[in-house]
Amino acid sequence: MNLEELYRQVIMDHYKNPRNKGLVNEDGYHLVHLHNPSCGDDMRVVVKVENGIITDVRQDGKGCSICCSSASVMTESLKGKKVAEANEIIQDFYKMIQGLPISENQEELLGEAIAYKGVSQFPARIKCATLAWKACEQALKEVEEKDE
Ligand code: ZN
Repeated sequence: MNLEELYRQVIMDHYKNPRNKGLVNEDGYHLVHLHNPSCGDDMRVVVKVENGIITDVRQDGKGCSICCSSASVMTESLKGKKVAEANEIIQDFYKMIQGLPISENQEELLGEAIAYKGVSQFPARIKCATLAWKACEQALKEVEEKDE
């Protein structure tokens, strides 16, 4: 199996069996809702931060396979991480998806999100792959501002 095939399987697996899907409407959860008009993707992400650690992150939305699977992968890559660490992973994901070089260590932290590396060759799909990540980034920022 070549790398491309492996990456495609990761994406299809997360599309068919999305992780952390379905929102929680409880105290401590912060919601961000983003829309990608170019593809019609619609994504909601909630995060729960306790003592600087993302104790829960969940997603729910409609859209293409790239968008929905990427949201599932994002929750697994960021759950349990410190907020500062999660923000670095998010920025590394943006870099990778724009085709910019990232270090081996950064690749390791991305986990299965590395499967979206090939999206850099399809600029129109970059917004699909990053939508849930942008929602999470914004949610973390709003949580931080609220705590100040
Ligand atoms: Zn899309």
